[in-house]
Amino acid sequence: MIDVRSDTVTKPTKEMLEAMMQAKVGDDVFGEDETVNALQEKAAQLFGMEAALFCSSGTQTNQIAIKVHTQPGDEVICSELAHIYLYEGGGIAFNSGASVRLLSGDRGRFTAQQVSENINKKTDVHFALTRMVGVENTMNKGGGCCWDLNELKRIKTVCADNGLAFHLDGARLFNALVAKGEQPAQYGNLFDTISICLSKGLGAPVGSLLLGTRSHIEKARRIRKVLGGGMRQAGFLAAAGIYALDHHITRLSEDHQKAKALEQLLASQNYVETVLPAETNVVIFKLGDHIAMETFLNYLQNNGVKAVSMGRQLIRFVMHLDINNELFERLCSVVTSFEG
Ligand SMILES: *Cc1c(COP(=O)(O)O)cnc(C)c1O
Repeated sequence: MIDVRSDTVTKPTKEMLEAMMQAKVGDDVFGEDETVNALQEKAAQLFGMEAALFCSSGTQTNQIAIKVHTQPGDEVICSELAHIYLYEGGGIAFNSGASVRLLSGDRGRFTAQQVSENINKKTDVHFALTRMVGVENTMNKGGGCCWDLNELKRIKTVCADNGLAFHLDGARLFNALVAKGEQPAQYGNLFDTISICLSKGLGAPVGSLLLGTRSHIEKARRIRKVLGGGMRQAGFLAAAGIYALDHHITRLSEDHQKAKALEQLLASQNYVETVLPAETNVVIFKLGDHIAMETFLNYLQNNGVKAVSMGRQLIRFVMHLDINNELFERLCSVVTSFEG
């Protein structure tokens, strides 16, 4: 099967498995797993942030961050397309008892002006206290698009002026960094907390990191334990993460090239109405109304391609480590052979 449902489907490479086998481990709840500690230090250093915490998933790192920054009844500002709102099981309410102010925008990217206009007045007791702004880079439901760093700087200023925490869901941040030629530290000095996933494009089997100040991460460690996320000899997994950071970042550009080629191919198919510009490894396209989405998804399935729907008539293809050139060529021929 050519599995393009997500970049989470990758299996560890032989070299990554080798690195995992060699890991020195200990009990991480006691802080004694040297490989986990090494991964956390490496990531914190890369972003120029004080500390990091290895967690089981990006949902966990995001939810912990929201819990760190809010009290029940507080309000979180984010995009109406945000993963933290749409795809984390209602976790903002479930875990933090916080409410949400949803902003519209360009493929999930809003402006500093919009943030400014949506901060509740602190002195009026009618309103929830606005406490946090969350952005996502790349923006999954926006078709993997990247934020403009200057707009993020303007949002940071609004946050600083209003005492709001600024969190980045960077599940695919490395895709954005590679696509735009930016450096991790440019993000490290903008955000209070950053979540990055090792299990997406970087190809590790499990794991995400939450980055922040020492005091935020101390608080996060306590919350992770409450959520049942304290892991023991997690160094075997952390070793995969270290390997991924060392070897799987620059190659992301190959995934981006494939996504771009696919975007152009799809745009020329008569059964496709529109394709979002592929800036990174995600391609989202809309089927023409004369095509039943189920028919198309079944066609893909019957021809060895697994893909998912992202909404009405919307299909997503994600490029990743396990889509080599040969599989990519096959995918292209399946796409061009559909008779709508
Ligand atoms: C995948 C993803 C996450 C985290 O997902 P997990 O499956 O919990 O690791 C968070 N945000 C975005 C934008 C994602 O794509």
